[in-house]
Amino acid sequence: MFDVVICGGGLAGLTLARQLRREVPSAKVAVVERQRRPLPDAAHKVGESSVELSSHYFGVVLGLGDYLRKNHLIKNGLRFFPGGGRTHRLEERTEIGPPQMPKVPSFQLDRGRLENDLRAMVEADGVTLIEGFSVRDIHFGERDAPHEVVISEGSQGERVTLRARWVVDAAGRAALIRKKLDLTRPSGHLANSSWYRVKGKLDVGDFVPESERGWHARDGERIRWLSTVHFMGTGYWLWLIPLSTGHTSVGVVVHDEVHPFDTIRTLEKTKQWIAHHEPRIWEQIGHHEAEDFLCLRHYSHGSAQVYSKDRWSCVGEAGPFADPFYSPGSDFIALGNCFTTELVRMDLAGDASWQARAEEYDGFYLRFFDVACETYRKAAPCYGQPRAMAAKIYWDDFNYWAFVCQYFFKELWKLPPADHARFVEIAKGFATLSFRAQKLVSEWAKRAHDEPRAVHVTLPPIPSLLANLHLDLEKAMTPDETHVYMTEKLALADELLHEMVLRALVSLGPTNGVELAREVDLATWGSRVSDARLDAEEAEGGARRRALSLVARDFERCVGRADKHPEVVSVRALVDHVYAQIAEAAE
Ligand SMILES: Cc1cc2nc3c(=O)[nH]c(=O)nc-3n(C[C@H](O)[C@H](O)[C@H](O)COP(=O)(O)OP(=O)(O)OC[C@H]3O[C@@H](n4cnc5c(N)ncnc54)[C@H](O)[C@@H]3O)c2cc1C
Repeated sequence: MFDVVICGGGLAGLTLARQLRREVPSAKVAVVERQRRPLPDAAHKVGESSVELSSHYFGVVLGLGDYLRKNHLIKNGLRFFPGGGRTHRLEERTEIGPPQMPKVPSFQLDRGRLENDLRAMVEADGVTLIEGFSVRDIHFGERDAPHEVVISEGSQGERVTLRARWVVDAAGRAALIRKKLDLTRPSGHLANSSWYRVKGKLDVGDFVPESERGWHARDGERIRWLSTVHFMGTGYWLWLIPLSTGHTSVGVVVHDEVHPFDTIRTLEKTKQWIAHHEPRIWEQIGHHEAEDFLCLRHYSHGSAQVYSKDRWSCVGEAGPFADPFYSPGSDFIALGNCFTTELVRMDLAGDASWQARAEEYDGFYLRFFDVACETYRKAAPCYGQPRAMAAKIYWDDFNYWAFVCQYFFKELWKLPPADHARFVEIAKGFATLSFRAQKLVSEWAKRAHDEPRAVHVTLPPIPSLLANLHLDLEKAMTPDETHVYMTEKLALADELLHEMVLRALVSLGPTNGVELAREVDLATWGSRVSDARLDAEEAEGGARRRALSLVARDFERCVGRADKHPEVVSVRALVDHVYAQIAEAAE
């Protein structure tokens, strides 16, 4: 009899096993994994790029910091080249990325190496690892009766039954519980991907001639290649991720509305696709032999439930999955595992309130998923429009660091329910703003001019408000202090959203501006670009800069001044015109 049987020993299952042994040492844990070791280096799984939240989980919560530094690559953040690859040379494209190695670390993970090592670690931690066996069925025990997990070696092997108080589905897309209980739901996001690995390092710095001194000078340490690099155009992006085993992961993501799955469904088609849409990148990477190839149609899915009062949960891709663009897959693993660990801990300690917690976590996780998914659902037009994209990335970073990461780094889910509830309210505030912001940047991008002047966008510049949000992740704060902090940031986010509205209107001009305002339902927002902000726009030079609020100044410093549409003479007149038009339409 086990306390927890984890079905599937991929990233989610193995990290959960490690976490349970660390945080609930009395728990007897088994992991059933159908694939035996050794797993291949590099060509194993996607999920190679981690970001701040998951890196904190791996490095600090699981105590793997030294291991990751030694065996994987420290990552140079996310780097974006939006705007499409057919018209501009790389050095003439807008580049958005960090100016130096980020202070809060993240990692590029070789999944084969990581999972081999994690298996050895969890065995050493006292987990029963049953390799080469598949889970055939799960029978849920009623009331307090144990669950039964039926396993066998291969499809013909003798069936063996494991009994456990808790069962966790970590079987990835096999989604044992989600399928058994018919929990899969559409996520509303239709995108596809194909990927392969090549031997050797693909250094984006080598793609630009040394004679382009200005471009190279922006990366004095020559560490662009350590970023997760995104080459983007309308409805697509192409990734390059370096791996510590000396390989590079190459992948394409296409949104249905612009590029059908069929265009990338084989290796040959994927190569042709890259050669057509990113010809200059293809010139640089096309001669590298692919070591493997996989593709996935409609990779995003939702789920109706992930935590149950009946002592089960679904973690990793066995739960819902949004999109890989900002590498959030491992963030969801981190959050899902932490919630599961807390529920198991409470239950095994005899704390009967764990059932109410399970319901609370379930709602929180699924709402969090929906907000995260919205970041990608409408993103296709933004990938092709550098201005809207830069604003989107600023917004997404702001929200991610100010709320999502803080929530995780400060372990707020462990707070008593009444205390946790006030953070749930803040989450709702950020969610409302985020839905508006995603629609805004998407509609803006749809109407934007096709070939804007390229800019270099340092995100985040140091020092800046945005950089401080990043650095604040490691700042110790009590829950009360964190609440004050987040409340303040929520107010700034509201201001930032209006700054984005202003920027979109100024760059689109009156006709498209009114159309945009109607499309995003600006009339229903209940607040508008402030008078003080419009006053600032009437000043010039230093006086204008001084009149801008902290957020407006930081946003402008990061993403550059708005390109004014030729028909815009007075910003105040433009804004008044737009609001008057939508008010009239509303009547
Ligand atoms: C195109 C794409 C790119 C991505 N890029 C990133 C990224 O850069 N960063 C990131 O964080 N995330 C990324 N993700 C998400 C990432 O791949 C997942 O979050 C992660 O791999 C999920 O891990 P998991 O453990 O849930 O599933 P898996 O890693 O798939 O593990 C599931 C395990 O269960 C086992 N299993 C299945 N069925 C059974 C059974 N019946 N019995 C026993 N064992 C079983 C399998 O063998 C497997 O080992 C990406 C996803 C996609 C689709």
